[in-house]
Amino acid sequence: MTRIALLCWTAAIATVAAAGAAERSQPNILFIFSDDHTTQAVSCYGESRKLIQTPNIDRLANEGMKFTRCLVPNSICGPSRATVLTGKYSHLNGFYGNDPRRPFDGSQTTFPKLLQKAGYQTAIVGKWHLESDPTGFDYWHILPGQGIYYNPPMIRGGERVKHEGYVTDVITDLSIEWLKNRDRSKPFLLMSQHKAPHREWAPALRHLGWDNDRVYPEPETLFDDYGNGRGLAWRDQDMTLAKTFTDRDAKLVAPPSLTPEQRREWDAYYEPRNEKFRQANLSGQDLVRWRYQRYMHDYLGCIKAVDESVGRLLKYLDDEGLTENTVVVYSSDQGFFLGEHGWFDKRWILEESLTTPLLVRWPKVTRPGDATSKLVSVLDFAQTFLDMAGVPAPDDMQGRSLVPLLKGQTPADWRTGFYYHYYEFPQPHRVRPHYGIVTERYKLVHYYRPDLDEWELYDLHVDPRETKNFINDPAYAATVKELRSQLEELRRQCKAPPLDQVPPEAYGAAPARNIRQPVGQPRATTRN
Ligand code: CA
Repeated sequence: MTRIALLCWTAAIATVAAAGAAERSQPNILFIFSDDHTTQAVSCYGESRKLIQTPNIDRLANEGMKFTRCLVPNSICGPSRATVLTGKYSHLNGFYGNDPRRPFDGSQTTFPKLLQKAGYQTAIVGKWHLESDPTGFDYWHILPGQGIYYNPPMIRGGERVKHEGYVTDVITDLSIEWLKNRDRSKPFLLMSQHKAPHREWAPALRHLGWDNDRVYPEPETLFDDYGNGRGLAWRDQDMTLAKTFTDRDAKLVAPPSLTPEQRREWDAYYEPRNEKFRQANLSGQDLVRWRYQRYMHDYLGCIKAVDESVGRLLKYLDDEGLTENTVVVYSSDQGFFLGEHGWFDKRWILEESLTTPLLVRWPKVTRPGDATSKLVSVLDFAQTFLDMAGVPAPDDMQGRSLVPLLKGQTPADWRTGFYYHYYEFPQPHRVRPHYGIVTERYKLVHYYRPDLDEWELYDLHVDPRETKNFINDPAYAATVKELRSQLEELRRQCKAPPLDQVPPEAYGAAPARNIRQPVGQPRATTRN
């Protein structure tokens, strides 16, 4: 070999070695995302009702970092998912509500596309709920629409496939199968996304009776009267256990997709209890109390399987020696009401639905057991994942990388106010469109349509349950003025259009007659 050839060969080896090192420094990313899993139902969040133990999810908090105020910019399923992918608010990614006639524009830039370009192998398994086909994934295997709990059909790369079993287990099996068969020469992004614990909260058959007929503590606001200066939005919603909860929600009607054998198991648990309920002929507050107990058994029962799924995925990483170079993130598309204010569902700027779990384990970066109450958001996920992989984020993404926080270094200019905007109205739950600013202590909210113009101020320090409107209290006049100014500044920064320029279709199931429907008109569907 000539001297020149030898030099070239040595240089080539060095280049390959450097590329290999760079590749190895890009961590794998396992993103576990559930649907409607609220912090009150994650034991490491220490909720006072102590509703459930989630040891596998808690392992991520013990070995990684817990964010106690991870906020969503628009508290419903599809819009939150669109924000995760794009790093943008609904008004820029175009996905405002869960209207199946207006699918997500998959030609947009998303973080999976950018990671794929940077050499990652990308996959999504489970709940997608954006109507258009996934883009930016080497492999996708998703539930159509909301999906179903038992024996769920799915779509694999465009082809419909049948599955037997419980949806959370199926998604976990498929996630592990993909990990086993992945291209091991590349770092991976796996988004393992659950349907559970979304309505109608149907647990795995093995978890029926998991709680031994426990009587759950009721939230303080189960019988909220929506007083203390709160406005029409509170009184006119349609999401109460008292009025909106259906027989299907209550498991007085079995889901249609059970096999005969599964149906026998279902009936063996529910039927004796349902018969007792029918005999009791409950009404008023007694009926709400019964529904709350049934709701908790079922919702929390779903989380048992999600927690087991997290345990199985973490064990796979351990067994395969992947733990050290894999970032594991657990989060949900929003929070949820577990009887607070008499409600189920989400949508509101209120803490239960605004805040979502966020746990991140990144070995050698996060410090075990670390926690922060800084305001972060699902809006930050895209830039965070790109930063972890060393991939530059596009300038028009609207969040901020959480990597400094994960390293224990909060930037001095970290956000102190967060912009929120919910649109979908009137279906399915008649929650009024509203926007506002969230700070560590306050929320200033404007309910603005249709035919509504009401402002509310909540003070979490003196009223953590958010049952009082301080907007007209003279003691808060200066606070309101300051927050109004900050809100306008946030709207400017995030390029929010003037309210009269929000496209009418943003409000969802949208024939004009529905938008203008007067108070007290027909009840919601279950499309949520
Ligand atoms: Ca959801």
